[in-house]
Amino acid sequence: MTLKKSTLLLLILSISAQFAFSQGYKVKTIVIDAGHGGGKPGAAGTYSKEKNVALQVALKLGKKFEDEMPELKILYTRKTDVDVDFYKRADIANDAKADIFISIHCNSMPDRRVVTGYTKTKSGKKVPKYGYVKNSITSGTETFVAGTHRLNEQDVAIRENADIKLEKNYKQNYDGYDPNDPETFIILSLFKNTFRDKSLKLASLIQDNYTNVNKRVNRGVKEQGILILQRVGMPAVLTEIGFISNPTEEDYLNSASGQEEIVTAIFNAVKTYKRQTEVN
Ligand SMILES: [Zn+2]
Repeated sequence: MTLKKSTLLLLILSISAQFAFSQGYKVKTIVIDAGHGGGKPGAAGTYSKEKNVALQVALKLGKKFEDEMPELKILYTRKTDVDVDFYKRADIANDAKADIFISIHCNSMPDRRVVTGYTKTKSGKKVPKYGYVKNSITSGTETFVAGTHRLNEQDVAIRENADIKLEKNYKQNYDGYDPNDPETFIILSLFKNTFRDKSLKLASLIQDNYTNVNKRVNRGVKEQGILILQRVGMPAVLTEIGFISNPTEEDYLNSASGQEEIVTAIFNAVKTYKRQTEVN
């Protein structure tokens, strides 16, 4: 094949892939992932643990979807205080061919190292003594999407989920299309970009709701190499709903009204996302 022909075919395949994906994209199945669990408590506040707060919010969020949008299928990576390996969490979402993956976590600042006093050595030299104090000041929400680096694991997940869709379309339209062809990688990267764009959109909507409606401190949308997000072949976010290390936020995170605000923020973000991304 000449370069010109292969470029043209690639262009056609690429456009078709994007078209096929955006045409097919409907939010039907949502996986809600409560961070940590069991022997992995996550961050700890003065009196509460991240794993418990995350689970409470995850269950309430799921219930709100079940009550108000019964047409959606809601799956949970855990519904009790158990530890689930991160690859198992991703498998649940990939096996279900979920359309959105939402992971719920609480943030924490590490203790700060401070000088607590001085001691004198035998030679009379003053040496500082160090101790740790809790960093209880930092507050706010932030939502992560998979970073653009280290996306190899997501390649696998996307391939496993998406190439079936791709193959159906391409076997019809392009007889003899080879999924191992280098061109497949270009198409996979298009899927990856589509997932990334959608993940960023959902993350932004969640942050907008936290900030504009709930009046929380906005730490923004961030891209980071988070394994769980890299393993799922669908738009995915990890939302940090507040700092459990901040006493005011710990109270908010544990209160019924605080949890209701957080749940409503995520719920409304998903509703808007669904409306804006679905193409008929
Ligand atoms: Zn966490």
